[in-house]
Amino acid sequence: MMAPSVLVVEDEEPLRILLRYNLEAEGFDVRTVADGDEVETMVDERRPELILLDWMLPGLSGLEVCRRIRSKKDTRDIPIIMLTARGEETERVRGLATGADDYVVKPFSVPELIARVHSVLRRANPDVLAQTLEAGDIVLDCLRQRATRKDRDLNLSPTEFRLLEHLMRSPGRVFTRDQLLDTVWGQDSFVDDRTVDVHVGRLRKILNRGRDRDPIRTVRGTGYSFDERFGAKC
Ligand code: CA
Repeated sequence: MMAPSVLVVEDEEPLRILLRYNLEAEGFDVRTVADGDEVETMVDERRPELILLDWMLPGLSGLEVCRRIRSKKDTRDIPIIMLTARGEETERVRGLATGADDYVVKPFSVPELIARVHSVLRRANPDVLAQTLEAGDIVLDCLRQRATRKDRDLNLSPTEFRLLEHLMRSPGRVFTRDQLLDTVWGQDSFVDDRTVDVHVGRLRKILNRGRDRDPIRTVRGTGYSFDERFGAKC
């Protein structure tokens, strides 16, 4: 399956970098643009599956960009999530009235934003995101948040589920403990590197019984990855 494409429209460079980094880690194909005037050209070049659209932009405002995208037949259905600053309550309402599918208030937590992206994408186009991840005898049903191995219900906690889903969405990719903390736990939570090790340990205990092969690879000095040779596909 081709990676779903996300267009990030944001003039603050650190935020643009943060969004690109985290969306790419989720397996999205990410393009970014800083100026409202350039959005239509980018959208015409390649139709994104989703647009993250900042409210206050140089050139056309996010609101105007949203209006234009909604007014054209070819782009009308592209899901849009607005990024607004705190305190822009009235603007937020206007943003939704203009046709944004959802909005996120800055500063936002990355896991929260990723969850919104997934949920808006699922609503708009159920085929674009794999709802079920399968690798060998492990199956994740992402809609029902249910995980099984050889038909054995794994009863994962929400965090364990997010951790396994995150690893399984990018088989073979090595994530550092910091990256996992950012995307699975978010910056707000009171956790440290040990937390990741503890949860991976717990996840392994639940996943692997008897002679089961361990699908999670420890990369010494770096972090963890889901073994791509385990038969992962998504
Ligand atoms: Ca801005």
